[in-house]
Amino acid sequence: MRTIELKEVTALVRQLCMDANYYLPADLRQAFVDGEKTEQSPLGREIFGEMIANCDLARQNDMPVCQDTGMAIVFAEIGQDVHLVGGAFEDAVNEGVRQGYVDGFLRLSVVGDPLRRENTNDNTPAIIYTTIVPGDRVKITVAPKGFGSENMSAMKMFTPAASKENIINFIADACIGAGSNPCPPIVIGVGLGGTSDKAAYLAKRALLRPVGVQNADPLYAEMEQAILDKVNASGVGPQGLGGTVTALSCAVEPFGTHIAGLPCVVNISCHVTRHAEGSI
Ligand code: SF4
Repeated sequence: MRTIELKEVTALVRQLCMDANYYLPADLRQAFVDGEKTEQSPLGREIFGEMIANCDLARQNDMPVCQDTGMAIVFAEIGQDVHLVGGAFEDAVNEGVRQGYVDGFLRLSVVGDPLRRENTNDNTPAIIYTTIVPGDRVKITVAPKGFGSENMSAMKMFTPAASKENIINFIADACIGAGSNPCPPIVIGVGLGGTSDKAAYLAKRALLRPVGVQNADPLYAEMEQAILDKVNASGVGPQGLGGTVTALSCAVEPFGTHIAGLPCVVNISCHVTRHAEGSI
């Protein structure tokens, strides 16, 4: 059993909030470089160039890559041989988000109640998902999510009779119908199976998969490619101004489900699909 002080969790979350907002993952930047080469629209290519410059300026100056620094989504994998001491885990994570957003000069975008809508002025509460895993480490991933893209999420409870084509069309239609709202080129996360809530979790988690990496199962890899092809044939293009690169990547995460159902959730993410991870 390894003992970990929760103040270490707070310090890590604080740092990851800043890192995620300042430094885009290398695979995403590479997708911009590739997109600049393959995009057919001259304006689209220019936009890719702006996105690369923006990404590099943010990194060089420790500044947010986008003004919407998002709601903090925190995925924590906690080793079953870890003993956390010094308070409550969720409090420690929220304290890290509070410090990261305030000290990092990140926009405070969260209200404490969905109807009263008073800003909490520290970007809490975070959305926290914990998983118990083997080992004696704590791994934390912070994935800030802007709501231009989050608002474009879609869910459908298909019946088991739905064809692969029905599902591909639903996902592609959600992405194409979103138009310029999610600041394309987008990254598409899909949760398939489980229950409605499990599918929503899987769709969000799918966004952590490196850009361009396909599902190891050929059935789902083929589905991901079919969705990408449809979305990229739509003409929406970079920033919705027309072009051939509307989506950079699509990740489908399946899970076992009930004989009577087939839940499907699409979580669309923007061209700043941010995440940073660290371990204690
Ligand atoms: S959707 Fe993404 S790129 Fe667009 S404003 Fe929100 S965080 Fe920024």
